[in-house]
Amino acid sequence: MPIYEFRCLQCGNIQEIIVTRSDSDALEMKCNSCEGKDLERLLSAASYSMGADRSGPKPSVSTKTCGENTCGTLNIPGPTR
Ligand SMILES: [Zn+2]
Repeated sequence: MPIYEFRCLQCGNIQEIIVTRSDSDALEMKCNSCEGKDLERLLSAASYSMGADRSGPKPSVSTKTCGENTCGTLNIPGPTR
């Protein structure tokens, strides 16, 4: 079963919801923190790579000079524990 991440637009709480039906838009969902109903569905992989509003450190880009070009390295922080 697909597991989707939803972010509450009111308090920023992120929760995972297992969607058991294909018409997930019809599900009655609410934030388990503030009970708000304005939830935004996140793509799990994308939300992780973007570091979207997680409480941990966010990815940073470090640049360095490689010859005549500038190289960028995306540093995605791993788990802190
Ligand atoms: Zn909320």
